[in-house]
Amino acid sequence: MTTTTYDYFHMTDLNTIGEIGLIDRIRQATPAPQHAETIRGIGDDAAVFDWGTDYGLLSTDMLVEGIHFDLTYVPLKHLGYKAIAVNVSDIAAMNGLPIQVTVNIGLSSRFPVEAVDELYDGIRAACEAYNVDLVGGDTTASRSGLIISVSVLGKVPKDLITYRNTAQPNDVVCVTGDLGAAYLGLQMLEREKQVFLADPNMQPDLSEERAYLVQRQLRPDARTDIVHELRDLGIRPTAMIDISDGLASELLHLCRQSGTGAVIFDENIPLDDQALLAADEFKISPVTAALNGGEDYELLFTVRPQAFEKLSTNARITAIGYLTADPDQVVLATKAGQQTPIRAQGWVAGA
Ligand code: ADP
Ligand code: MG
Repeated sequence: MTTTTYDYFHMTDLNTIGEIGLIDRIRQATPAPQHAETIRGIGDDAAVFDWGTDYGLLSTDMLVEGIHFDLTYVPLKHLGYKAIAVNVSDIAAMNGLPIQVTVNIGLSSRFPVEAVDELYDGIRAACEAYNVDLVGGDTTASRSGLIISVSVLGKVPKDLITYRNTAQPNDVVCVTGDLGAAYLGLQMLEREKQVFLADPNMQPDLSEERAYLVQRQLRPDARTDIVHELRDLGIRPTAMIDISDGLASELLHLCRQSGTGAVIFDENIPLDDQALLAADEFKISPVTAALNGGEDYELLFTVRPQAFEKLSTNARITAIGYLTADPDQVVLATKAGQQTPIRAQGWVAGA
């Protein structure tokens, strides 16, 4: 057995390049695909392969205890559901629909069999909701709590595939649902956790009127309904990405990869009433929660202005701005006409 010893003093801290920099580094060092069937590799919401009449889609995501979830307030059933939903969301972001999933779990010895049953109750509920088959996985011991990694296989007709890098200037920028609620739900749960830790007899105060926020955080849904709806209307977005890390970060990905700029109107960003109330309570701007909060799992997509006419009356879809030809200008515009650059918040290793 050989042991590698790193001279950490002369090495690069992960935080200096961040998650995006790290993925870029891996991508650049990855050889070009060897197979003609590999249509897209690293860089979109899912990998794409030629499957005859359709394109196949493959995506994978990992959830780690202490990083992505806290079992003090996350029920295992919801966690199982979420693990599937966030993967299905990446397939929806390619304008595709899911078919099969595999689930890998790492379990520390503190989890009883019943806990795994509960986790799988949620996994099965999500598989039913999204009409996917659970077809395999891997199970291992873990020293550091629970790890769940899901891979999902999906498909999309070739003429409907939607990438991140194919948007054009003047396209209308649309989002589904509302944004920022999942982040505000997390703030609620974290606050209740602190109250509970201070006095374990205190019951969490997660009243009915906050139920939506907590549900958005604990049990998000992937927007496969929108994929169906766009197909029914005969609309293929020019580009699409799902909102896992916040609107700002996803919009910047879409613009950077498409070589466009964007103007987003802050007053158009869809916000739920509960999110507005909670943002006020936590003294954060609801627009900031939408831009940088993340975990909403809504879709951000662009359509040609003519195509948008067919969507303009759809309550589940909101136009928030348009794309421009200047890739250096991705801005948030206020009603008063002020424009500020949209920036993505950095990712911190281990945070
Ligand atoms: P998403 O937020 O949509 O799940 P990510 O930001 O995790 O996407 O990943 C962006 C792209 O980088 C995807 O194509 C993904 O497959 C790829 N990727 C992420 N991590 C790695 C890795 N460790 N090795 C190779 N490719 C990776
Ligand atoms: Mg994604």
